[in-house]
Amino acid sequence: MKKIGVLTSGGDAPGMNACIRAVVRCAARYKLEVIGIQRGYYGLLEKDFIGLTPRSVANTIQRGGTFLGSARCEEMKTEEGINKAVQVLRKEGIEGLIPIGGDGTFRGVVALAKAGDIKVIGIPATIDNDVYGTDYAIGFDTAVNTALEAIDKIRDTAGSLQRLFFVEVMGRDRGFIALDVGIAGGAEDILIPETKTEIEQLCLNIRRNFKKGKKSNIVVVAEGDEAGGVFQVAQQVWERLRLDYRVCVLGHIQRGGSPTARDRILASKLGAAAVDALAEDKSGFMVGELSGEIALTPLEETCTKRKRMDGSLLQLVKVLAT
Ligand code: ATP
Repeated sequence: MKKIGVLTSGGDAPGMNACIRAVVRCAARYKLEVIGIQRGYYGLLEKDFIGLTPRSVANTIQRGGTFLGSARCEEMKTEEGINKAVQVLRKEGIEGLIPIGGDGTFRGVVALAKAGDIKVIGIPATIDNDVYGTDYAIGFDTAVNTALEAIDKIRDTAGSLQRLFFVEVMGRDRGFIALDVGIAGGAEDILIPETKTEIEQLCLNIRRNFKKGKKSNIVVVAEGDEAGGVFQVAQQVWERLRLDYRVCVLGHIQRGGSPTARDRILASKLGAAAVDALAEDKSGFMVGELSGEIALTPLEETCTKRKRMDGSLLQLVKVLAT
């Protein structure tokens, strides 16, 4: 193998740049030429390429977002799109591809590997952390810490005014961010899509908390909670308790910012592991980290299997909110 491509796809995540850097610098060890594919699969179809060298990725490890750009590309979901991508890669002499993204990105690359003779190794990067085969995806730790900083500030004002706050964090399908932020921020309750939200029980808890002398009440709500999102949850509570409340939607600030040390280290390890795997002629795997060890999981499994959530953390929230 002489030439490989790297792209970032789906939602951007802090640490993607650190990962591209690791791919490029590790590839230099194997004398592999690296092509940066800009704007994800969209750029692949459009041949939006730049050559990457160890020097051209200097000063990127600390930067959020992705300097290659990302995109959502509907054409890749079609047979024509996949065939076009295979032709482009073949013509450019790109023999190996490293897509950095979430499970949607991996669905695309699985289809690509089936249609052509390209070798592929995926790297999980999504703030949602909802990828099977890795304990943590690149970007999750930074997003949790960003949300946590906001919650700590909200706690100051909530405590001063004895207020009830509903804080929405990202997580359309899964509640990994909400769970970690809730535990670390000392939330009184956490509402996530994986469990049924009982509004009556929530109201009971809120009333009890104030009766116990708690100065503030913070309920962390994942944006995809099945009770209908933070505004609907707050409204339903208000209808029952008539308690003054505030809603804070953290939104896209959770995506941005300089990656934490943990995300930079994870990105560096996984970027290097992906290149090692390609150099060893492996293909069709995602490199992840399980219990501190690098683990290869078939990409097909990452698209079909659901990542397990540590339910005991939800019980812990209840105990610690006493
Ligand atoms: P995030 O978790 O941050 O949203 P993701 O990788 O899951 O990241 P998606 O938007 O689901 O993000 O997918 C990214 C891109 O991958 C899509 O825009 C599309 O180009 C490609 N893709 C997704 N699903 C498929 C599929 N079934 N077949 C081919 N390509 C796909």
